[in-house]
Amino acid sequence: MEKRSSQTKVKVVVRLRPALSTNEKTCVSVVDNRVQILNHRNIEESLQYEFNTVFDEKTSQVEVFSTSVEPLLEKVLHGQNVSVFAYGPTGAGKTHTMLGVNSDPGIIPRVIQSLFKTIELKQKSANDLSNQAPQFKVTFSYMEIYNEKVRTVAATNLNKYSSRSHTILLLKIHRKEPSGKELRGKLYLIDLAGSEDNRRTGNKGIRLKESGAINKSLFVLGEVVDAINQNQPRIPYRNSKLTRLLQDSIGGGCHSVMITNIAPEEKFYYDTYCTLNFATKSKKIVNSITTHVVDNIKIEKPTATVRPIKR
Ligand code: ADP
Ligand code: MG
Repeated sequence: MEKRSSQTKVKVVVRLRPALSTNEKTCVSVVDNRVQILNHRNIEESLQYEFNTVFDEKTSQVEVFSTSVEPLLEKVLHGQNVSVFAYGPTGAGKTHTMLGVNSDPGIIPRVIQSLFKTIELKQKSANDLSNQAPQFKVTFSYMEIYNEKVRTVAATNLNKYSSRSHTILLLKIHRKEPSGKELRGKLYLIDLAGSEDNRRTGNKGIRLKESGAINKSLFVLGEVVDAINQNQPRIPYRNSKLTRLLQDSIGGGCHSVMITNIAPEEKFYYDTYCTLNFATKSKKIVNSITTHVVDNIKIEKPTATVRPIKR
């Protein structure tokens, strides 16, 4: 059974990573919670962009997690779907944000740790009150879309194509209450392929084919966002594997957070500009939140035998 309960906009946050060397010129900064970038049409001017949250280059991994992701975990434990996806050009910090490194973990390891801790606490507090505790089952799948094909990947290959493929970790949380009521929530954690325009990067041969496919699914993603914003009757979700997978996240039934990663260096200027414009149009999308409840009506044994009425 599905219950529509509320509508919510896709949350769009931006994270600017620090400059990686002091030798390069930068062209982006965060001023008063806004992203500021030079205007290429008139370099005397700067362009300013506003989002739900703007994380400057000093923002820590824990701050990104606790501000943008942690508040949504309760929703997954209550049968709603949540989607967190990182968008932006290669090198802007998507994998750092989603996965991070052992010494500085990103969203995925923090989500897993926090979910299991919350489940443990819920069960403990029910036990402390001598109540029957809800049962939880967590399952996960990992997918990679590469050249428009979905295939699951071996762990050893995870990083091999990471900037050219979309990687999706899907956690399913199944909660069974002592009353028999079941709640099913899904959590998508997505590291999208680089959004850069590959026509400018001089890719050739097989790499060009790869780029074309990535561009195709990100291009379709752009068309999907436009179609939703223009209230078109048909949204072209089915035109790419990625948009089929994101159907619930964009214009669907998820609480969605799009983390837009940008880099400060001048060489990223055009990609940053395009990324900020895409993020701006994604802010308008409204999702209709659904709670996934399965009511298991218990069939009691009959206490009396019912005989057919003789006529
Ligand atoms: P993407 O996945 O978008 O291609 P990465 O996450 O691989 O980008 O980041 C590119 C480089 O920048 C990596 O060396 C990464 O460690 C570094 N980096 C990204 N974001 C940050 C950050 N917030 N703080 C420090 N280093 C960062
Ligand atoms: Mg990456």
